[in-house]
Amino acid sequence: MEVKKTRNTEKQNLVKDILSKTEHTMSAEDIMAAMPIKVNKTTIYRILDRFAAKGEVHFVTGKNGKAYYALCNGCGVSHDIHNHIHFECQECQEVTCLPNKLSIPNLEGFTINETQFLIIGVCNKCKA
Ligand SMILES: [Zn+2]
Ligand SMILES: [Zn+2]
Ligand SMILES: [Zn+2]
Repeated sequence: MEVKKTRNTEKQNLVKDILSKTEHTMSAEDIMAAMPIKVNKTTIYRILDRFAAKGEVHFVTGKNGKAYYALCNGCGVSHDIHNHIHFECQECQEVTCLPNKLSIPNLEGFTINETQFLIIGVCNKCKA
Protein backbone atom coordinates (compact mmCIF):
# COMPACT_ATOMS: atom_id res chain seq x y z
CA MET A 1 0.00 0.00 0.00
CA GLU A 2 2.67 2.44 1.07
CA VAL A 3 4.82 1.55 -1.93
CA LYS A 4 1.95 2.21 -4.33
CA LYS A 5 1.34 5.61 -2.77
CA THR A 6 4.99 6.54 -3.12
CA ARG A 7 5.00 5.51 -6.77
CA ASN A 8 1.91 7.62 -7.49
CA THR A 9 3.50 10.61 -5.84
CA GLU A 10 6.64 10.04 -7.85
CA LYS A 11 4.66 9.93 -11.10
CA GLN A 12 2.75 13.07 -10.13
CA ASN A 13 5.97 14.88 -9.37
CA LEU A 14 7.47 13.78 -12.68
CA VAL A 15 4.44 15.09 -14.60
CA LYS A 16 4.69 18.41 -12.77
CA ASP A 17 8.41 18.57 -13.40
CA ILE A 18 7.97 17.94 -17.14
CA LEU A 19 5.24 20.59 -17.38
CA SER A 20 7.37 23.10 -15.47
CA LYS A 21 10.21 22.73 -17.97
CA THR A 22 8.27 23.33 -21.16
CA GLU A 23 7.59 26.73 -22.69
CA HIS A 24 4.45 25.52 -24.41
CA THR A 25 1.58 23.24 -23.44
CA MET A 26 1.77 19.47 -23.73
CA SER A 27 -0.71 16.75 -24.62
CA ALA A 28 -0.92 13.57 -22.52
CA GLU A 29 1.06 11.82 -25.30
CA ASP A 30 3.79 14.49 -25.15
CA ILE A 31 4.04 14.04 -21.38
CA MET A 32 4.07 10.26 -21.67
CA ALA A 33 6.92 10.45 -24.19
CA ALA A 34 8.91 12.79 -21.91
CA MET A 35 8.50 10.58 -18.80
CA PRO A 36 11.75 8.93 -17.69
CA ILE A 37 9.76 5.91 -16.51
CA LYS A 38 7.08 3.97 -18.35
CA VAL A 39 3.63 5.26 -17.43
CA ASN A 40 0.48 4.45 -19.40
CA LYS A 41 -1.74 7.13 -20.88
CA THR A 42 -4.66 6.40 -18.53
CA THR A 43 -2.44 7.12 -15.53
CA ILE A 44 -1.19 10.34 -17.13
CA TYR A 45 -4.79 11.47 -17.73
CA ARG A 46 -5.72 10.55 -14.15
CA ILE A 47 -2.83 12.63 -12.79
CA LEU A 48 -3.71 15.57 -15.08
CA ASP A 49 -7.39 15.40 -14.09
CA ARG A 50 -6.43 15.49 -10.44
CA PHE A 51 -4.15 18.48 -10.96
CA ALA A 52 -6.86 20.25 -12.98
CA ALA A 53 -9.41 19.67 -10.22
CA LYS A 54 -7.00 21.22 -7.72
CA GLY A 55 -6.38 24.21 -9.98
CA GLU A 56 -2.73 23.28 -10.47
CA VAL A 57 -3.06 22.59 -14.18
CA HIS A 58 -5.32 23.93 -16.89
CA PHE A 59 -5.90 22.77 -20.43
CA VAL A 60 -7.16 23.97 -23.75
CA THR A 61 -8.59 21.79 -26.50
CA GLY A 62 -6.63 22.09 -29.72
CA LYS A 63 -8.00 22.03 -33.24
CA ASN A 64 -7.41 18.26 -33.39
CA GLY A 65 -9.61 17.73 -30.33
CA LYS A 66 -6.67 16.87 -28.06
CA ALA A 67 -6.31 18.53 -24.68
CA TYR A 68 -3.11 20.53 -24.14
CA TYR A 69 -2.02 21.04 -20.54
CA ALA A 70 -0.03 23.72 -18.77
CA LEU A 71 0.91 24.29 -15.14
CA CYS A 72 -1.06 27.00 -13.40
CA ASN A 73 0.94 29.80 -11.95
CA GLY A 74 -1.74 32.06 -10.60
CA CYS A 75 -3.08 32.15 -14.17
CA GLY A 76 -6.66 31.31 -13.34
CA VAL A 77 -9.41 33.70 -12.36
CA SER A 78 -10.61 30.57 -10.53
CA HIS A 79 -9.86 26.84 -10.95
CA ASP A 80 -11.58 26.43 -14.29
CA ILE A 81 -11.94 30.01 -15.42
CA HIS A 82 -8.94 31.29 -17.33
CA ASN A 83 -8.84 34.49 -19.32
CA HIS A 84 -5.49 34.23 -21.10
CA ILE A 85 -5.26 33.34 -24.76
CA HIS A 86 -3.75 30.17 -26.19
CA PHE A 87 -2.11 30.14 -29.57
CA GLU A 88 -1.99 27.04 -31.75
CA CYS A 89 0.58 27.12 -34.54
CA GLN A 90 -0.48 25.41 -37.75
CA GLU A 91 3.17 24.84 -38.72
CA CYS A 92 4.78 23.37 -35.58
CA GLN A 93 1.51 22.35 -33.87
CA GLU A 94 2.67 23.90 -30.60
CA VAL A 95 -0.03 25.30 -28.34
CA THR A 96 1.28 28.12 -26.16
CA CYS A 97 -0.16 30.08 -23.22
CA LEU A 98 0.06 33.77 -24.04
CA PRO A 99 0.10 36.53 -21.43
CA ASN A 100 -2.65 38.36 -23.31
CA LYS A 101 -5.93 38.32 -21.46
CA LEU A 102 -9.52 38.67 -22.50
CA SER A 103 -12.26 40.03 -20.30
CA ILE A 104 -14.87 37.41 -19.60
CA PRO A 105 -18.32 38.85 -20.24
CA ASN A 106 -21.08 38.54 -17.71
CA LEU A 107 -23.58 36.35 -19.54
CA GLU A 108 -27.02 37.11 -18.21
CA GLY A 109 -28.79 33.88 -17.28
CA PHE A 110 -25.82 31.65 -18.16
CA THR A 111 -23.40 30.01 -15.75
CA ILE A 112 -19.78 29.86 -16.86
CA ASN A 113 -18.02 26.75 -15.51
CA GLU A 114 -14.99 26.66 -17.76
CA THR A 115 -13.31 28.89 -20.31
CA GLN A 116 -10.95 28.08 -23.18
CA PHE A 117 -9.52 30.70 -25.49
CA LEU A 118 -7.68 29.49 -28.56
CA ILE A 119 -6.30 31.42 -31.50
CA ILE A 120 -4.96 29.48 -34.50
CA GLY A 121 -2.26 30.81 -36.80
CA VAL A 122 1.51 30.81 -37.37
CA CYS A 123 3.88 31.44 -34.45
CA ASN A 124 6.91 33.76 -34.37
CA LYS A 125 9.39 30.87 -34.64
CA CYS A 126 7.75 29.43 -37.75
CA LYS A 127 7.34 32.82 -39.40
CA ALA A 128 11.04 33.63 -39.01
ZN1 LIG B 1 -3.95 27.96 -15.20
ZN1 LIG C 1 5.15 27.36 -34.99
ZN1 LIG D 1 -2.80 28.51 -20.66
